[in-house]
Amino acid sequence: MTSVTQSHLCLLCQHPLRHIGEDFAGKQIYKCDQCDYAMTPPATSVDASELYDDPEYFDGWGCNMEFDYGRFEPAVHQQVEQYLAFIKKHTRGESLLDVGTGSGLLPHLARQAGYEVEGTDLSKHVSETLPATAGFPVHHGPLEEITFHRTYDIITMLHVLEHTSDPLSTLLRAKEILNAEGYVMVVVPNYKSVDTRIKNLLSKLKLKSRAYKHLALGHHNYVFSIKSLEVLGRAADLQVVYHTTTQPAWRSSALHRFFERYQLATWCWIVYRKPAST
Ligand SMILES: [Zn+2]
Repeated sequence: MTSVTQSHLCLLCQHPLRHIGEDFAGKQIYKCDQCDYAMTPPATSVDASELYDDPEYFDGWGCNMEFDYGRFEPAVHQQVEQYLAFIKKHTRGESLLDVGTGSGLLPHLARQAGYEVEGTDLSKHVSETLPATAGFPVHHGPLEEITFHRTYDIITMLHVLEHTSDPLSTLLRAKEILNAEGYVMVVVPNYKSVDTRIKNLLSKLKLKSRAYKHLALGHHNYVFSIKSLEVLGRAADLQVVYHTTTQPAWRSSALHRFFERYQLATWCWIVYRKPAST
């Protein structure tokens, strides 16, 4: 299956995508060489909703389904505190919407730090249980389908955009509900990380027992690089005010700091800003 069909055009530049392989489960992998991201044709939104609606989905990520933050693993707290420190440093504003909030630890800590917070999630369990426990509203559904009665200074999408079926539409929706000169912070896996490059190569050479498993296709429909996030921002008419690559907080070492210097670390972080008048 190397042919390019009408449905496999780049979302950002409309050029045909290049077929680069197939993962161990038979998911086809395409790449836009110009915009520098890989993707697999997304599952239907019904399948995706079922996947994220399962309360067990995020159990086992160092969290728990009761949202008992005291029992979350220290590494989880460490990571979320790093996000919050970053938000304080690189954005301004008081209201924060955390898209795909999951455990809700980020808005919880942000609220303690003085932010006025809300969340969204595809999971019914999260949107029905979290508000009573954590004390802030959680809207249910994909960002594009939620009716908001207000706008926000800061919108965070941490490990969210790679799961969407159309990251451009999600980013455009975020922009709609953002105040003028507001910020969107995005964190996604880095397609250009050393780790991913090595595993891509091993997969290509058929030296990996489960080819391309590291891309987590099926959960992740898109795998971005900093370059593709910049192209995405331009397509949404958002300014890029900061970008970097980082290792997870619990895996930071001198070698990893070297990776970060050359955009080779595991995750891409980017901050967009909505222009003053659009
Ligand atoms: Zn493209």
